Amino acid sequence: MRPQGALHLAGETCYVPGLTNSGYVDGLVIDTVGECEPYRGATLDTLVITHGHADHFSAGAVVRGLGARVIAARDDARMVENPEVNIRGMFSWARPGDLMVSKLFVGAPCPVDALAEEWSDPRARVIPLPGHTLGHIGVLTADGVLFSGDALYQRALWERHPLPYAIDPQMVADSVRLIDSLDFEVLVPGHGEPCDRTEASAHIAHHIERITEIEHFLLDALKTERSTEEAIALVSAKCGLSDHPAQYWLAVTTVKGFLGDMLGRGDLEFFVRDHMGWWKTKG
Ligand SMILES: [Zn+2]
Repeated sequence: MRPQGALHLAGETCYVPGLTNSGYVDGLVIDTVGECEPYRGATLDTLVITHGHADHFSAGAVVRGLGARVIAARDDARMVENPEVNIRGMFSWARPGDLMVSKLFVGAPCPVDALAEEWSDPRARVIPLPGHTLGHIGVLTADGVLFSGDALYQRALWERHPLPYAIDPQMVADSVRLIDSLDFEVLVPGHGEPCDRTEASAHIAHHIERITEIEHFLLDALKTERSTEEAIALVSAKCGLSDHPAQYWLAVTTVKGFLGDMLGRGDLEFFVRDHMGWWKTKG
């Protein structure tokens, strides 16, 4: 018995549309929608979680209680078992105030029974797609449907979130390129609508373009030396972000992700002056 509201995609693979989409293949669940109801009465034995952001396992503990073994990647399993780990990580392991924390990071803990790295199943396989989080994975079903979690943002999602959260944008770019090299018929993002192979390639090209655009913006903006705080403000203003504290703290991670990548590639230099961190484009 499939989860309530499941829509057919290909072969045995279907999905339950939601604020977070949830995949389903003959007892295997991939991420959960926000609600528990669709899973009650469904046949389920395994839940694979794409990454450790709480909006992807809202019903995880309930689905586990209904008999599913929970699988997550090693680097994200702790965040699934204790969302507080992610919340603390966002604030350099100090304790942030509630107003600073995105509601997408807050949720019920879900025990993890096995690691994705050690999981093998005829219904689907795991594709490592790091960058949004360190242990982010995609799940490619035997029917050729790729559940890509938050690795790839479709154009429509970029409109609503012009600075997609990423701990490492360069890693994200490599992951979306990897998606483009995979053999699949349908891509189901964590947020958005399923699309075919051709549409997915267009979304991938767009995603890479936007990352490159932000890098070029930073290269230009940091010709004048800027503090970390100024770099965050400049990118946030360019992207038209609000001044909401939770939005700001998501941007802090993402902009630091860009700065760290560009420093690592030798495009920027970093120094401390007057007890503040400063960045400057090299050359
Ligand atoms: Zn996420």
